[in-house]
Amino acid sequence: MAFAYRGGTLCAEQVALEDLARRFGTPCYVYSRAAIEGAYREFTDELSGRASLVCYSVKANSNLAVLSVLARLGAGFDIVSGGELARVIAAGGDPAKVVFSGVGKAEAEIRAALQAGVLSLNLESEQELERVNAIAAALGKRAPVAFRVNPDVDAKTHPYISTGLKQNKFGVAWPEAERLYRKAAALPNIRITGVGCHIGSLMLDSAPFVAATRRIVSLVERLEQAGIALDHIDLGGGMGIRYHDEASATIAAFVHGALDALGRRKETVLLDPGRAIVGNAGVLLTRVEYLKPGEAKNFLIVDAAMNDLIRPALYDAWHEVRPLREVESGAARGVYDIVGPVCESSDWLARDRLLAPRQGDFLAIMSAGAYAMVMSSNYNSRPRAAEIMVSGARAHLVRRRETPAGLFEGEQVPEWT
Ligand SMILES: *Cc1c(COP(=O)(O)O)cnc(C)c1O
Repeated sequence: MAFAYRGGTLCAEQVALEDLARRFGTPCYVYSRAAIEGAYREFTDELSGRASLVCYSVKANSNLAVLSVLARLGAGFDIVSGGELARVIAAGGDPAKVVFSGVGKAEAEIRAALQAGVLSLNLESEQELERVNAIAAALGKRAPVAFRVNPDVDAKTHPYISTGLKQNKFGVAWPEAERLYRKAAALPNIRITGVGCHIGSLMLDSAPFVAATRRIVSLVERLEQAGIALDHIDLGGGMGIRYHDEASATIAAFVHGALDALGRRKETVLLDPGRAIVGNAGVLLTRVEYLKPGEAKNFLIVDAAMNDLIRPALYDAWHEVRPLREVESGAARGVYDIVGPVCESSDWLARDRLLAPRQGDFLAIMSAGAYAMVMSSNYNSRPRAAEIMVSGARAHLVRRRETPAGLFEGEQVPEWT
């Protein structure tokens, strides 16, 4: 376990989190390199003996240090913007292992991806195919493309993170896929590399993932009969993790289920997990500013807020909250809502938790490695938190805390007349 109590104090690997909270201040995110590497290796171990590539989904946590840890292990990357491509390259990632997903790629982003030499552009519409063909022609290149196909399978997850239903904006419609492949095959500046799909995030059961794989295999067979061969089959990400006491399927269950559904197909298998690699590899540290007992609720007002971690406000998400120092058995406990300083009633991090807090104590919001810092904002002119990566007994500052003056660096007051 990357985060565990040792001698009564919560540690990341061999480093006491309270030391980090005092040294770097709060709120701050702390990641464990060993936890990231361990989760990545679970995927590659399950895929061993099979032509495969695990493309970490950068949007889950795009800190350069996180990308660098994975690049050093040989990971590929799944990106959704030109900004993410720049990050992957800056972190030492190999562009030839990059898959570019997303419904709205701009011309400049497509050009940058072709110039960098990405593995595949995952196309999501007919107009995008035409745009990519035209840009590739202007650059004198053949663009490597796959279609992200929407298999119309219910991932059985929160509606905001479900992407594989026909009413979702993602992917090309199932009945259209074959026609689009035939059209792509006839375009001079297009090279078909594969097929992609991604039905949603935080799937707790592997059954929808396996069902989508079966649908994709049936399409690959039809394409083969039409004389269109593929190099790879990209099954997406979306594997769930345990935030609370959910019974989440293991990585092995997802991978084995998919490999069974692929049967004897020889194409390279791509997976693009994000949350499953970093979700449980990070925590958000915060300090108790005030205890505010009330008639209906007791509030614990902390120095982290919805601008730092929006998942509770956005998805009603549950994050475990642990004190950095283990509570003695006789301590008086109370039930608290943990809330931040932002001026919104949706600014809460956890509700109805049994804790024994004192003013000034530190808390860890657990499972905050994915869709956490990347979704942070400066709302209420709050500087964004610092990020720290622990590796063994060492702690590295991997993003410094923003400053109040830094927040308006790019702003200008006009010369009023
Ligand atoms: C977001 C995304 C992923 C990663 O999803 P997780 O739930 O974090 O595993 C994978 N593939 C695509 C195309 C995505 O958009």
